[in-house]
Amino acid sequence: MSKPQNEILHHILTSAQLPTLPAVAVRLLELTSQDDAALTDIVDCIAQDMAFSAKILKVANSSFYNFRQQVSTVNQAVALLGINAVRSLVLNFSFLSLGKQPENSLFSLEMFWERSLVGATAAKMLTTHVPGVDPDTLFTIGLLQNIGQMIFALTTPARYNTVLEKLAVAGQDVDATELEEEALTLSHATLGAEVVKFWGLPSTILAAIRHHHTPAAYAGNDPYEQKVINIIFLSDLVAGIFYSHDPQRHYRQLHDEADRLLGLDDLGLKNFLTIIHREIARLGHFLEVSIHSVRPVPEIIQEANIRLSMLQHSYEEMHRELIRAKQDLEDVRKQLTEKNLLLERLVNIDGLTGIYNHRYFRTFLRSEINRCINNHGSLSIILADIDHFKQFNDDYGHQTGDFILKELCVVAKEAIRQYDLIARYGGEEFVYVLPETSRETAMIVAHRLCRAIADNDFSDGYRHFRVTISLGVASAKPESTEFTPHEFIAQADQALYKAKHLGRNQAVLYQSAPPSGDLV
Ligand code: GH3
Ligand code: MG
Ligand code: MG
Repeated sequence: MSKPQNEILHHILTSAQLPTLPAVAVRLLELTSQDDAALTDIVDCIAQDMAFSAKILKVANSSFYNFRQQVSTVNQAVALLGINAVRSLVLNFSFLSLGKQPENSLFSLEMFWERSLVGATAAKMLTTHVPGVDPDTLFTIGLLQNIGQMIFALTTPARYNTVLEKLAVAGQDVDATELEEEALTLSHATLGAEVVKFWGLPSTILAAIRHHHTPAAYAGNDPYEQKVINIIFLSDLVAGIFYSHDPQRHYRQLHDEADRLLGLDDLGLKNFLTIIHREIARLGHFLEVSIHSVRPVPEIIQEANIRLSMLQHSYEEMHRELIRAKQDLEDVRKQLTEKNLLLERLVNIDGLTGIYNHRYFRTFLRSEINRCINNHGSLSIILADIDHFKQFNDDYGHQTGDFILKELCVVAKEAIRQYDLIARYGGEEFVYVLPETSRETAMIVAHRLCRAIADNDFSDGYRHFRVTISLGVASAKPESTEFTPHEFIAQADQALYKAKHLGRNQAVLYQSAPPSGDLV
């Protein structure tokens, strides 16, 4: 044992809160360990303790035994029940009288003894499957297996409360032993074993308490002790069915371990579990332990199964909800994307012609100029204006004029490349932005556009119209941000003006009088 463990053990064993065994129990244990102990000595020992004698007589006369004659002396009780049964009774009564409910503690003494009684009953009943093991002895050990918990609660209440708090929060998913060792350096199994050793109880009880969670860790080579340890281990699993939040887990473990350790098959275990609650109630009544939480095991398991399936059901429901919510979100996202596209269109597209508007043209031109500055590329723009359009409107009406504008856009769009931009500059003027385009190429495009419009048969189904456009072309290799869109557009406008002046229906390239470094 480590130093901290020794320290805490010393603290506990010398604590004023450590319960002391009743004198009759101590004496009985002494007598039992003596091979030559006379029966009369044992009877005398019990008879001297008035309180325990009265309890023995009460039990002996109870319906539990159903003797026809009245039992009025311990001697008679011993004769009828047998010395072992009477001795066990006295010991059990003395153990059950141990401890008192600690104040401000999560530990419940009443619950503790109730659970201990369930373990004890299970241990006693399991002995029918293990030859050579005394049921009364196993009942007593079963009763004491978790005594370490009570000792912790009585002697180190605050520190043990932290363990109980964590257990209450984490439920059954945590290992109580680990929590105890963390907070108190010892597990309740180790402490229980040390305390019963201190009390002078037989070594089998000590070994069983020490290993009641770890039967495989028993290092001794006494097959009897191993059998006892196995039974006590299984009895604690049985108690787990009654008192844990996860009875199925304990049931499954019990199912496997009972088969492995005792050869208790599925049917045998089911029979055992079907009747155990009655035996618990009977022994509880007999030993004056109040039983609250014990119900038939099949009922507990069934209820747990229903709870689990409800949980799974609600989990599936939740899962479906989640998928629905995700789908809804996806729909909303799609709608939002569509709306954004629409909004973008509304913001950037000209309502009449369906081509980009002036605003978008400005943005596009700005970014293309910047791109050219970075890549040392060339850029061209074409400003186009319908010839004599005022007159056209006057001759055919504004609506026909609108029709021409729309049709012209269709033709003009077909004549340019995919990554060229056409936008409505305003009124009956259009602008083209031709990225990566030299002035020669820009002029070729402008001529082609001019020809395409002039050659186009504008027909509304009834009448046929001809319109022409004039185009002004400007081309540049912008080198720095000093090159402004405003200046660039002014150059195209100047060229357009020249085209009008030269007779319309033609394209003119802007050429500066004194050559500028910027212009191509
Ligand atoms: P030119 O350009 O050849 O010098 O002569 P123009 O008659 O085309 O020039 P001006 O700028 O004097 O007239 C432009 C006309 O374009 C005025 C207006 O009736 C017409 N116009 C401008 N916007 C629209 C429009 O949205 N729909 C229609 N139907 N006509 C428009
Ligand atoms: Mg005009
Ligand atoms: Mg015009």
